[in-house]
Amino acid sequence: MPAGPGTRLGIGDDAAVVAAPDGNVVAAVDMLLEGRHFLRDWSSGVDVGVKAAARSLADIAAMGATPTALLVALAAPPSLPAAWALDLASGLASEAARAGADVVGGDTAQGDSVVISVTALGDLGGRAAVTRSGAHAGDVVAVAGVLGHSAAGLALLSADVPKDELASALIQAHLRPQPPYSAGPAAAELGATAMIDVSDGLLADLGHIAWASGVVIDVDTSALDLGSLPDAARLVPGADPVTWALTGGEDHALVAAFPADAALPATWRIIGRVLPASDPHTREAVLVDGRPWAGPAGWEHFR
Ligand SMILES: [Mg+2]
Repeated sequence: MPAGPGTRLGIGDDAAVVAAPDGNVVAAVDMLLEGRHFLRDWSSGVDVGVKAAARSLADIAAMGATPTALLVALAAPPSLPAAWALDLASGLASEAARAGADVVGGDTAQGDSVVISVTALGDLGGRAAVTRSGAHAGDVVAVAGVLGHSAAGLALLSADVPKDELASALIQAHLRPQPPYSAGPAAAELGATAMIDVSDGLLADLGHIAWASGVVIDVDTSALDLGSLPDAARLVPGADPVTWALTGGEDHALVAAFPADAALPATWRIIGRVLPASDPHTREAVLVDGRPWAGPAGWEHFR
């Protein structure tokens, strides 16, 4: 695990020492469970390492912070091949490096299945954190990163379609999500009023912003970049590319509200707007093309 200049003391002592130039530390933790979040038949050790790191790192970026460090706890059965564990470490290290962070410590224990917990730390660079609660009526809503690719990839894996170039790219997006980390602090600099990473699905996660901010958010489906999703949907019976983009989670795109006059670079694509709300604590807090969404809302924990 390489250590950059932000790691004052890395792996090898009782604890690591990580620089916190801002004076505040942004912290998040996430768990990945074999059988629930991944299958070793489908995901390599590298895939799981990338995904485990990406989930926590995206939460740091979604606060407008720059990731600095990861701490990793791993439970594994005695039958786990050593090569798989080494691949996991390599995936964690490579995704941490993509985000500019170091893996600075961890712990291992024997368990019945593979369980990975990743804690991520980040630095705000002197800025205020971008929370879920600051969106105002009149703001625009914009997304950085891809929507629905992970859901399409999972559907293609499950449908057992031929792995052509199109299918392989989407399956790769499912196995190794690539959140746009640098867009998080950039959004803070651009004046983002609220932000979240899309882990549960665009509508579900915009619902968190709408609820916390006391607003209604209207998504314009004609503004979504569907990319290869329509072609992929033709391979999967019953699939709909717009539903993938609206409700598919795990791509960890960043979605944020910005003042309407913010000068957004091409990284950010405007996909909706923030409206005032009389009663935001309803499912109708997020509209699709001006109407309540009739389809599935996205992943709901413990449903
Ligand atoms: Mg999140």
